[in-house]
Amino acid sequence: YRDRVLQSERLNVVSELAASVSHEIRNPLTVTSGFLQLLSKSETMTEKERGYIKLSLEELKRAEKIVSDYLSFAKPQSQNMVYADLSEDLEYTTNIILPYAMIYDVEVESYYDNSLSTNYDQHQIQQCLINLYKNAIESMKEKGGGKLIIHISEHKGSIVIRIEDTGVGMDKEELSRLGKPYYSTKQEGTGLGMLMVYSTINKLKGRIEVDSKKGQGTVFRLFIPAA
Ligand code: ADP
Ligand code: MG
Repeated sequence: YRDRVLQSERLNVVSELAASVSHEIRNPLTVTSGFLQLLSKSETMTEKERGYIKLSLEELKRAEKIVSDYLSFAKPQSQNMVYADLSEDLEYTTNIILPYAMIYDVEVESYYDNSLSTNYDQHQIQQCLINLYKNAIESMKEKGGGKLIIHISEHKGSIVIRIEDTGVGMDKEELSRLGKPYYSTKQEGTGLGMLMVYSTINKLKGRIEVDSKKGQGTVFRLFIPAA
């Protein structure tokens, strides 16, 4: 139990820290990228100089990626809590992810129940769902495609969001590391997506169940208390 309390305190500190950091960093990143892009159009530049600029832009893009996994921390806690319909956020985020799914030959199936409303922060939930969909799609990338099934329902006073993929899956050891800061098995991974997911659901006093079979796929279940 003590371990759980510590874990939840740690998540709160991390999210507050990230709130200020991501806000302050986004603007300078955008401005710097813009100027570098302008510079790269210069006609008096050598190939070598052009190469330096290209590298700098790539590094900035990576920094931007880290910030965007954190985007939803950008506003102070609970300030944006509203009573809203989770099905609508599910539908909205599913549409956003479709082009990404298409690139990797992932078929998306989604099932919405009608009107499942509770109090939550819409930006955070949307980011959280997108992080989960992205992971699911990326897990099917090396299998050359697959199926992403998204489902929402109500069960015993909780709204349950199920996200199922037919990707590479995780073994016990990998599962136990899920949500630890910077844990990533991807070359370009930030290892911040799942941290954000756990932190968001934690704030809503919900919980997350994960079932996974190496080589076969993964099922995430988010339980969010209904208002
Ligand atoms: P990132 O996606 O940047 O690697 P995340 O925090 O989003 O960071 O995920 C951490 C790690 O958890 C991933 O690198 C991957 O190994 C594992 N993971 C997360 N979701 C899945 C999934 N649906 N299927 C298989 N592995 C997953
Ligand atoms: Mg991720």
